[in-house]
Amino acid sequence: MPGGVNSPVRAFKSVGMDPLIMKRGSGCRIYDEDDNEFIDYVGSWGPLILGHCNPAVVEAIAAAAKNGSSFGATCAREIELAEMICEAFPSIDKVRMVNSGTEATMSAIRLARAYTGRNKIIKFEGCYHGHADAFLVKAGSGMLTTGSQSSPGIPRSITEHTLLCKYNDIESVKKAFMQFGPDIAAVIIEPVAGNMGLIPAEIEFLTAVREITSMYGSILIFDEVITGFRLCYGGVQNITGIIPDLTTLGKIIGGGLPVGAYGGRREIMDRVAPQGEVYQAGTLAGNPLAMTAGIATLKQLKDGELYDRLEVLGYLLAGKIRTLFEAHDLYYTIKRLGSMFCIFFTEEEVYDYESVQSCNTGQYATFYRNLLNCGVYLPPSQFEVSFISSAHDLKDIDITLEAMGKALDMMK
Ligand SMILES: *Cc1c(COP(=O)(O)O)cnc(C)c1O
Repeated sequence: MPGGVNSPVRAFKSVGMDPLIMKRGSGCRIYDEDDNEFIDYVGSWGPLILGHCNPAVVEAIAAAAKNGSSFGATCAREIELAEMICEAFPSIDKVRMVNSGTEATMSAIRLARAYTGRNKIIKFEGCYHGHADAFLVKAGSGMLTTGSQSSPGIPRSITEHTLLCKYNDIESVKKAFMQFGPDIAAVIIEPVAGNMGLIPAEIEFLTAVREITSMYGSILIFDEVITGFRLCYGGVQNITGIIPDLTTLGKIIGGGLPVGAYGGRREIMDRVAPQGEVYQAGTLAGNPLAMTAGIATLKQLKDGELYDRLEVLGYLLAGKIRTLFEAHDLYYTIKRLGSMFCIFFTEEEVYDYESVQSCNTGQYATFYRNLLNCGVYLPPSQFEVSFISSAHDLKDIDITLEAMGKALDMMK
């Protein structure tokens, strides 16, 4: 396998290590092939809000497997999960299941382009929307407007339609609309960014993005692949009341199995084949195993109790981490929202891609390796979010803090 992995961040390159090979997980703990035990704050990068091997999820998957893993025809489970998603999200009248977040965002922009008859999209620097060609852009030569490819193998003729704006900076969005407004099919954004550390969008900023997209008839896409069912039963849109035209989902709605989904307003979704003419398909889309795992997960989240619990755990953990770091003379920026958190190794305020570059990634790498040796598994990159699961408890938080204390002591 290239780099020994099937997804780049698993290579631990940015913390100067070789890939860990995992053997099993249980609750909030994972074990590597050398039988080292870790308290896990990666949670498979977001899906495992109930921890590893949640009993009800495991049972549901096992039972479903006995009835067949895929039919290539509609099954009741797809309908059930679709109904749960439509009920949870105010903006979703209809939803299409796919197999990954990447597929969801890729399909959502195809749909937005078809619906508007326009080509250009706006994305924000530091937001991640999977690896489809149109999203792999980086800032060009200091100028706003079109980005350049951030990976070889992508024709300029594709990325020239992707405009790059600054997160939490409405002026950059206004400029893009002033220059290209009538050609902009969609604006896609993580309403709480979870791929440059944790950077929530300011409400005024999101409100203004909603206004300007409505004004120009552009489709607003909230990429809630991470935030869908992470902060509440629904998405960031349920909390802020700022409603997108389309929403992309993944991670939690698959309960640990490969899944994605995109959905939104009826008249837009009706353009998707076979009802409409916008082609999008999938051999294993909506397979009963993934649907079952998602349903079994959402059922446990529905009454909201677990979110209250996660909020308490998150509040305690983030507060105590701050105190601990300060006791080591490190006055770093720690962001936390519900069960998502990130320790930014910088004293600067962070609010967009540029500002998070002030982080001391070398120091994070040292802290990371020390902490791993003390049995705590954070994401192996400064610019990823840590997740608490409902399988973590107060004792795990205490063990984590003790380990972090040791990791910091080792750095002196
Ligand atoms: C993970 C992620 C994706 C991509 O999902 P995959 O299932 O890895 O393809 C898209 N958008 C956001 C916000 C993500 O965090």
